[in-house]
Amino acid sequence: MRIGFGYDVHRLVEGRPLVLGGVRVPHQWGLDGHSDADVLLHAIADALLGAAAMGDLGVHFPDTDERWRDADSLMLLGEVGRKVEEAGYHIVNIDATVALQRPRLRPYIDTMRHNIAEVLDLDPGQVSVKATTTERLGFVGTEAGAAASAVCLINQR
Ligand code: MG
Repeated sequence: MRIGFGYDVHRLVEGRPLVLGGVRVPHQWGLDGHSDADVLLHAIADALLGAAAMGDLGVHFPDTDERWRDADSLMLLGEVGRKVEEAGYHIVNIDATVALQRPRLRPYIDTMRHNIAEVLDLDPGQVSVKATTTERLGFVGTEAGAAASAVCLINQR
């Protein structure tokens, strides 16, 4: 068994959709980035790659590559899952936390878990997503951005 950890941050800006866990969350700001900037899926992808010691998302999908402009991060996560599987592992479970001051994410959590499980060919029971504010402290609290961290366990086949 191997453990992986991922962490990501994106800036909140005007004129972008807020996409988290593959769900378009209604909000006045969205996350800025080369892809759809889905901070939650990026942290999960980095946890999976980290568990397999296969680098990070930037190594596999460079943000200098026009192919990944506004890319659907669910598709990128699915690719990461395939790469980790091809390296001889299967995913045991994922646990992730998104830090965002507003809006409340509770109504969208189960859809996020379902989306993640679907692209990684997992049962939703293997995928945990949680959300927290930071009590108005730091860059999350001032709504300058959002952060996400994730851990996962993978097993050698
Ligand atoms: Mg990112």
